[in-house]
Amino acid sequence: MSDASAASFDFDLIVIGAGYGGFDAAKHAADHGLRTAIVESRDMGGTCVNRGCVPSKALLAASGRVRELADVEHLRGFGIHAAPVRFERQKIADHANQLVATIRTNLTKTLERAGATILRGKGRLEGSQRVAVREASGIERVYSARDVIIATGSDPFVPPGIETDGRTVFTSDEAISLEWLPRWIAIIGSGYIGLEFADVYTALGCEVTMIEALDRVMPTFDPDIAKIAARNLIDGRDIDARSGVLAKSVTPGSPVRIELVEMASREPVEILEVDAVLVATGRVPVSKDLNLASVGVTTNRGFIPVDEAMRVLVDGNPVPHLWAVGDVTGKMMLAHTAAAQGGVAVDNILGHQRLIDYRSIPAATFTHPEISSVGLSEADAKELAAADGFELGLVRSYFKANSKALAELESDGLMKLLFNRSSGEVLGAHIYGLHAADLIQEIANAVARRQSVRELAHEVHTHPTLSEVVEVAYKQAAATLV
Ligand SMILES: Cc1cc2nc3c(=O)[nH]c(=O)nc-3n(C[C@H](O)[C@H](O)[C@H](O)COP(=O)(O)OP(=O)(O)OC[C@H]3O[C@@H](n4cnc5c(N)ncnc54)[C@H](O)[C@@H]3O)c2cc1C
Repeated sequence: MSDASAASFDFDLIVIGAGYGGFDAAKHAADHGLRTAIVESRDMGGTCVNRGCVPSKALLAASGRVRELADVEHLRGFGIHAAPVRFERQKIADHANQLVATIRTNLTKTLERAGATILRGKGRLEGSQRVAVREASGIERVYSARDVIIATGSDPFVPPGIETDGRTVFTSDEAISLEWLPRWIAIIGSGYIGLEFADVYTALGCEVTMIEALDRVMPTFDPDIAKIAARNLIDGRDIDARSGVLAKSVTPGSPVRIELVEMASREPVEILEVDAVLVATGRVPVSKDLNLASVGVTTNRGFIPVDEAMRVLVDGNPVPHLWAVGDVTGKMMLAHTAAAQGGVAVDNILGHQRLIDYRSIPAATFTHPEISSVGLSEADAKELAAADGFELGLVRSYFKANSKALAELESDGLMKLLFNRSSGEVLGAHIYGLHAADLIQEIANAVARRQSVRELAHEVHTHPTLSEVVEVAYKQAAATLV
């Protein structure tokens, strides 16, 4: 691209959406000298900063401390007798709100310092290399850009039959502000968002009923990990978990009325009357108002098809100069995935060919204790082993054999490591236990480098640390290589 033709565009790059994906893309582009604009219609920072990762982790941090201080048995094990714990709901909510405000401000300043132009308004495509931005005042301006990245994210999914009022029946968007603590709350969905809120609510004294349509709770987790995690995170708490049942209808009010039917037969099961309902049944892409038809793009249930360089595809072929990153692509809908995709898209725009490696992207659930994973599930690893003709290795390493976990009196935990028994390559790991979200990074790095347990088993880990759970797994795995 010659300078003359580059200068004929208003910008080198326009990013639509300033969530984690858009932010990372815009910053990376501006840092590398691209004339960059980012369009945002709501709050800078998107879901993660305003309604997701950031405030939920603040609530989990505060409620986790309440849980710890209220756990008389656990404290007695150390010889500690604490006074009954008291907390102020509003102050916990304020902690989350203040953190959101701080991070949102920092992120906005970072973008401005990098030289990106922030355009406030709702963006949509106007054909190739053109973006229309409708400002809150109704004024619409059209900008041209050599490249456009769509990073419009996702919104909570509310299944048909469920009516929300934002007060008694709500999604994570409202739950995050912790406006009140219902005595009895039903959480629909036992994915990571449902589990994290169940952790918060039970720590703060609420009774929870968890409703899962699939035939086991925590259906998206490794089955062994789910089994051991559920013993503590669900069975050990004030949670009544129902699987194989569908919330056919939910009517807001006082009480909230839930009509439960059996998932398989749709036969009525029960009418529940609770104080509140949190709908945590997944997320849907935000793409319908983007005017994708103007560039011939057809979505897959709203998700924008992309290749591993983050180029938008039509019938499998890339649309020139159009990219998409983050939740709107439907790939591992996590903040760090969105950011990683943003980096990959911009590197390709800059002319450096780079592809995303989803296998090495970790995921974590910040319950107490945490759950994490990276790489292949056991089922996918089995399939790969059969297809590629290698023997799948699997070892388990237990927190109850770890000195640090024992010292903390938190030895409930398991790590499962999947690997190729011939080459030793690490294929995946699944962890439940204290600080599992931090522990997974070491294995994610090994997966990214396609490393073998043969070499990893020689790496020295600090004693006594939880990381020795990983060391034990590597050593066990290396001993079984064929
Ligand atoms: C309760 C909860 C907890 C979570 N916890 C974690 C966690 O701990 N770790 C983790 O990795 N992930 C977590 N996530 C997921 C994470 O928030 C998302 O994966 C991440 O925000 C996706 O980033 P994104 O940039 O793709 O989209 P988003 O963050 O959704 O941002 C998209 C932005 O685009 C804007 N936008 C949309 N359409 C337009 C338009 N037409 N014009 C202009 N702007 C537009 C939106 O207003 C929004 O600001 C959590 C999510 C939730 C709901």
